[in-house]
This record gives sequence, structure tokens and C-alpha cells, in this order.
Amino acid sequence: MKKVKRRAACALLIAAAIIVGMAVYLVRLADHGADWAMFRANPDVYQNGVLNTGTLTDRNGLLLAQAGNGVYRYADDAAVRTACLHAVGDYSGNIGTGAVTAFASRLAGYSFVNGLYSPDGTGATVELTIDASLQATAYQALWGRKGAVLVCNYETGEILCMVSAPSFDPNGTVDVNAAGYEGVYLNRCLSSTFPPGSIFKLVTAAAAIENIPDLRERTFTCQGQLEVDGETVVCTGWHGDQLFEDTLANSCNCAFAQIALELGGETLAAYAEQFGLTSAQSLNGIPTAAGRFDVADTDRFDLAWSGMGQYNDLVNPYAFLRYICAIAGGGSLREPTLLLGHRGKTTSLLDEGTAQELQQLMNYTAFTAYGSSWRFPGLDICAKTGTAEVGDGSPHAWFAGFLRNEDHPLAFVVLVENGGGGLDAAGTLAGTVLQAAVAG
Ligand SMILES: [Zn+2]
Repeated sequence: MKKVKRRAACALLIAAAIIVGMAVYLVRLADHGADWAMFRANPDVYQNGVLNTGTLTDRNGLLLAQAGNGVYRYADDAAVRTACLHAVGDYSGNIGTGAVTAFASRLAGYSFVNGLYSPDGTGATVELTIDASLQATAYQALWGRKGAVLVCNYETGEILCMVSAPSFDPNGTVDVNAAGYEGVYLNRCLSSTFPPGSIFKLVTAAAAIENIPDLRERTFTCQGQLEVDGETVVCTGWHGDQLFEDTLANSCNCAFAQIALELGGETLAAYAEQFGLTSAQSLNGIPTAAGRFDVADTDRFDLAWSGMGQYNDLVNPYAFLRYICAIAGGGSLREPTLLLGHRGKTTSLLDEGTAQELQQLMNYTAFTAYGSSWRFPGLDICAKTGTAEVGDGSPHAWFAGFLRNEDHPLAFVVLVENGGGGLDAAGTLAGTVLQAAVAG
């Protein structure tokens, strides 16, 4: 009898081990199945190491890239091919973060249930959220300057525009080693960081709203410059006595130096971290570059500038877009996506009340400081400029914000490298792209 019991126990143990083993395998298959199916030597998917299957379209069904049976195609229009290069990627594998690489398993038709299923070898069609025509408008509006343009629907998370310049026509013959093409393979929206300048005042402002109790009753004085421990913070103007809302509209360096010093480096760093500006983010699994806000060893003068997006601050355009989306969304954002029909999760970045105050401040700033009613006619815009000093050459021009528009809830971040003044360079470009987006 004992023997039978022992054998039964053994059999049960073996059965349990098999079940556990199967469960482990299934979990690993769910996690890594796409990678196993997509290994580079798989001849169903790759030819000479190049993805050889699948079709990419824009949100309107326009063909952006297609591969199958050894034939490779891009969009018919050269302007679209150039403007979409970084979002789409290339079959030469130069653009590491492009959809051709990032969504290879989807293009191959991989699914957990069916595995790789592509009866005719042409894989699957993946629809991107970008609008090819808007991409072309944005690229043209950069007029050969380097930069990044991001436009996103903050309700759905769909990215309508993700342009990086310089770019090139993947069907063309441009020599990318020539001057002016430095960093051409990088998608500046995702893989680069830049000094933010005054768009960072939106971060300092959020910290001020939550940590300075009498902020709205205070008066901030600007006499064109401010002495901080024997050094001089210079302002862009002579703003006199201002209420808090006017310090942002004036983008007053003297006021924001005082605010940054009052808040302290640790508090500012905590907010930059909370808003996702100092960590790598993920766009549909594509990792982005982490920004920097490091005031561990600063003196008070450097700390004052760090609260204004100077000193050694660095921001990634995509990470800043997330912050703008969260402000527009009342504190939380729908994580952006490049895949049409895919809904990202909701992430809470800041307090609802703080977000609402920032919305009002940005609307007031756009109206009073940027003349939004004539500069951006028909657009109920909330925005902040940045003009970031970079040491050599003209400053980087930034314009970041969103539209209050039920039909077009769009958030945007525009960067023109060495573009000069934020409003003239980046603001004008944003106006062109937003008008096209709303009209389209
Ligand atoms: Zn000032």
C-alpha cells in the first residue's frame, strides 16, 4: 500500500513539474515569442538581415514603406519620404528607432496565437498614427534648419506629427556625410536632448504653485537684472513689479531666479523627475533619451539659472510633450502612441489643480505676450516659448503648448536648433503646422 502511495505521489510530482514547466514556457513565449520568431536568421522575415515583409501606412492609408519577396518600396512622394524618414525608418537599418525596426514583428504578421502567419510572404499592414501630409508641412516649415516637431492628440495619445531634421530621401542620392547632416540618423524627437531654456519655467511654475502658499498675492520685482552672490542674472527686459501670472507671460528671469532660489534645488529636481523629464521614456517600446536636471553641486547663481532651463539642464522633446499632454489633460496623460487603434495607458504626472492653473497661465501668456489672437487666428492656444542659450551660435528656439479645441485637442513641442528667438522661429513654425492640422 505504501509503495502505491509513494508512486502516486511521484506521478503527481512529475505532473506538477510538467504543468509548471508549460506555464513557464507560455509566460516566456508571451514575453519573448516575437523575438524568437523574429531572429535575424529567419528567412521568412529577413533577407540578408533586412526586414523583407510588411506594409506601413500613415493614418489615412497612404503607403509609407513596403517590403516583400525582396522588393522594397517607400512613399511615392519625395517630400513625404524625407519628412517621414525618422518615424518610418529605413530598410538599410540606419534609423534604429524607426517603425520598420521597432514594429518588425507586427509587420511580419506575428501574433501570440498564430505565430508568424503570412501565407503570401507579404506580412501584415501596420497603420501609423502620423499624417504624411502634416509631416511634409512641418519638414518644409523648418526650411532646412535642424530641429524637431511633435504634435499629438492629448485625448487619444495619437502622434500626428513626428519630424526630425535634417533628414534625407531614402530613395535619393544625398551624401549624408556632407556638412549640415550631422546626427542625421538620430530622431531628435526621441533620441536627443537639448537645453530647454524658458519652456522649463513651466516646471518651475508647477513647483511654485504647490510650494509657495502666498504665490498669487506676491509681487515680483524686476529691474532688468538681479545680483545673486556677486554674479548678475540678466533679464530680457525691465519688468518692474509683476504678479505671478505676469512673471510667466514676461518670462522674467529675475522673478524666476528668485522663485528657483526660494524653492531650492532638491524641490526643483523632484518635480523634474516626477514629470518624467530626467528618465528615459518609452514610445510603443522605443526607448527615448533621458534629460538632465542636476543641481547637486551648484552654487546659488547656477541654481537660479537651472530653474529657467539653463545651467546644464537638458530636455528630450518627447518627454516634454508628455508633460504638456498631462497639463492639457488636467494632470494625467494618455501615453502617446504611433500605432493607429492602439490605446496607451493613462499616467498621472501632476495634481489636477496645478494642471488647471498652468493651463490658465499658458493661455494668458499666449494671449498677452504672443498676441495669439492675431498670430494664431482661430486657435485657442496655451503655450510657452523658450530661447535657450547654447554657448556657440544662435540660441535654440522652442515653442510648447496645446490647443483648447474639442475637435482638435492637440499638444505640440517645436524645436528649431539655433533658430534664434523662440516665438519668431518656433512659434511661427508651430502656427503653420497647427493651422494645417486643424484644417486637415
Ligand atoms: Zn524681468
